[in-house]
Amino acid sequence: MKESTFYLLVYTWIAIAILIFPVVLRFVAPYGRHTSKQWGFMIDNRVGWIIMELPALLVFSGFYLFGTGDHPTMTWIFFSLWILHYLNRTFVFPFRLRTKGKKMPLAIVFMAIGFNFMNGFINGYFLGTLADEARYPLSYLADPRFIGGILVFFLGMYINWESDNILIHLRRLGETGYVIPRKGFFRFVSCPNHFGEILEWFGFAILTWSMPALAFAIWTVVNLLPRALHHHQWYQDIFPDYPVDRKALFPFIF
Ligand code: NDP
Repeated sequence: MKESTFYLLVYTWIAIAILIFPVVLRFVAPYGRHTSKQWGFMIDNRVGWIIMELPALLVFSGFYLFGTGDHPTMTWIFFSLWILHYLNRTFVFPFRLRTKGKKMPLAIVFMAIGFNFMNGFINGYFLGTLADEARYPLSYLADPRFIGGILVFFLGMYINWESDNILIHLRRLGETGYVIPRKGFFRFVSCPNHFGEILEWFGFAILTWSMPALAFAIWTVVNLLPRALHHHQWYQDIFPDYPVDRKALFPFIF
């Protein structure tokens, strides 16, 4: 593929994210607490998570490893960060969930597969075929973009993993109900897991300083900002004693 064609695809992908954002804001994604049978055939929640996240791992790895570029050392570091996140999301997180008997619509799984396929492709192709030594020499390790970006990435990963962990342990094995989370970053926002995930991928965009990674970060906001607003509203509707000063997604902001 010509580099110009590739970038046209990436810019189009960003444009789609921006265009559909107002629609997604009103659309309550029907999984987890918002799950709905109106969305057709349902599959086991845990199986759904594995199937929908797998393309992010396989497509990204395939396009990186079999890309025709020269795979400079820096890109192996970027590759490892992505793989670290998605090994957890695909093979660890689903097995830790306490959602026994819960289901999600197959339609959600298909939407997520499309999203993960596209983001995996643009980032894997970019790093495996287009990224060269001139762009990422080993000295890029000392570049402020790399240092700043990796700090943001790991801060986001810490917040995301810690918050996922707190949520998972709100239930005893076999329980499926909901309580108000009160530990960690939940003191500030209703959805620190989503906030951490957004930080992570903006960190990745900064550390790679690349358009495909920025596209993925933008798509992460388009997915997770509405979900956090819907979760926040749901908490306020369900729990009369929900902390009034807690924001939805961004601490002290909204
Ligand atoms: P949720 O916060 O909706 O749920 C996470 C888990 O915690 C679920 O098992 C849920 O159960 C349980 N849970 C949540 N709140 C409570 C509560 N108050 N009491 C008891 N249990 C609770 O997270 P998501 O499903 O939206 O996302 C999971 C992870 O995936 C997050 O880390 C998120 O950042 C990431 N993600 C990333 C996306 C991206 O675009 N990069 C897109 C979507 C998710 P139940 O399922 O029964 O509600």
